[in-house]
Amino acid sequence: MTKPMPTMQQIQSLCKRRGIVSLGSDIYGGFGNTYSYGPYGSQIKKNIKDLWWKNFVENRSDIMGIDGDIFLHPKAWEASGHVAGFNDQLIDCKDCKARIRADHLVEDSLKMDCEGMSDEAVTKLIKDNNLQCPNCKSENLTEARKFNLMFKTELSKTAKAGDDNFVYLRPETAQAIFLEFKNVVDNTRAKVPFGLAQIGKAFRNEITPGNFIFRQLEFEQMEIEYFFSPPKNWTENKEKLMSLGHINDWDEESRNHINAQFDAWSKDIDNWCEIVGLDSKKCHAIEHAPEKLSHYSKRTFDIEFDFPFGQKELYGCAYRTDFDLSQHQKFSGKKLEYRDPQTNEVYTPHVLEPTFGLGRTFLAILTSAYEEEKLEDGTSRTVLHLKPAIAPVKVAILPLMKKDGLPEISKEILQDLQSFGACEYDEGGQIGKRYRRQDEIGTPVCITVDYDTKEDNTVTVRDRDTMKQERIKISDLKTYLFTKYFG
Ligand code: ATP
Repeated sequence: MTKPMPTMQQIQSLCKRRGIVSLGSDIYGGFGNTYSYGPYGSQIKKNIKDLWWKNFVENRSDIMGIDGDIFLHPKAWEASGHVAGFNDQLIDCKDCKARIRADHLVEDSLKMDCEGMSDEAVTKLIKDNNLQCPNCKSENLTEARKFNLMFKTELSKTAKAGDDNFVYLRPETAQAIFLEFKNVVDNTRAKVPFGLAQIGKAFRNEITPGNFIFRQLEFEQMEIEYFFSPPKNWTENKEKLMSLGHINDWDEESRNHINAQFDAWSKDIDNWCEIVGLDSKKCHAIEHAPEKLSHYSKRTFDIEFDFPFGQKELYGCAYRTDFDLSQHQKFSGKKLEYRDPQTNEVYTPHVLEPTFGLGRTFLAILTSAYEEEKLEDGTSRTVLHLKPAIAPVKVAILPLMKKDGLPEISKEILQDLQSFGACEYDEGGQIGKRYRRQDEIGTPVCITVDYDTKEDNTVTVRDRDTMKQERIKISDLKTYLFTKYFG
């Protein structure tokens, strides 16, 4: 039986009451859509990152990790197109002062897509249709205008910043990878095709943050730039191919060359979704229409996910041609080419970019895992069906009573099992309540130490999902848990 979709309220209230995620600067009443990950939340986040790194970097011989800076040379953002083009169109409500994304207002009210339209055309559309401020219903709106999403900050005068002494907080991790390409090719044995991966913070001055951690001003991305050889005859045909909007219009050989990369990556992305426990029925691969492609892309698909508030972008996978390396080559004056050691051919590699938002992964995992389950005895429980690798607590050890040597035995078991990850010892309250507390945070197994333990050295092992209990010898515990949950 499929479980019903949780509401955002259910997810947010669980996150708050169990210290998973809470409002940033909570004691000051919160601060502009910032969120703070508490003890369990930060552990879940770390588990996702560790799993991603293991899956895409450590387990692959063709991908290496880097850790670039948040501040890049200001020219890098000119080269990438972010200074000129990383904009949203916004309007202000003159009455309630709400700041509104014009494309969201048009999409929500008229069910149409206005991406790529000029400020004038969008303003006319809003006026002609008497669209209202979603907050106060006023029609007294300003004209649409572009708003750059990059946060700027000022450097001290002695540091080398842009002309006006400003630097940007990076709005994506990708560019730091492109800037590192030359160092990697010069100083490692990397051979194309190879990928560079990075996990890190990005900052965007989003006009309408919202939906909890789905859209934040400060968030983490897990990104890969995968460098591969250009289609054959690229050099001769570049101008023609670039003038065609989408690789679907390219010649068959070139198209197949790129699509082979897409095929491999779409399998890898699907595999990742399964590894972290995303409900596959909620994941949808959506191709970008040619007219909706970003300036650097000739084919992009997104993985959209059925969040409680609707189907929205979770991940993206974009073919960026040689756009970024060529631009950085032009702006930096440094050659960013690769010489194939076998053929001696020299070229600027092409790039496929799979990108994974960490906060959105977190929210999609919670959406997939959350269940309010009715039990046979008429009660109900909240349970997170998290994969063991994601669960913030791997095993909870619960002495039946706080006396008679049961806590001591429990603590010994706790120490022994900590090699599986964070384990928790809980001696407070009725055993049923203690199970419920662990169910809510997704602990896969609870171990109860009782009076029989003292007689026969066995413990009760309770499975989170089935709630079935088994008696297992303490000496067999590690092997049992490894085989069933953590192997
Ligand atoms: P959207 O259309 O939702 O604004 P985007 O297409 O601008 O997203 P990308 O630039 O492709 O997003 O960023 C790569 C990934 O980073 C996204 O797929 C998403 O998972 C994540 N991401 C982007 N913006 C935010 C944000 N403001 N808060 C949290 N995660 C984000």
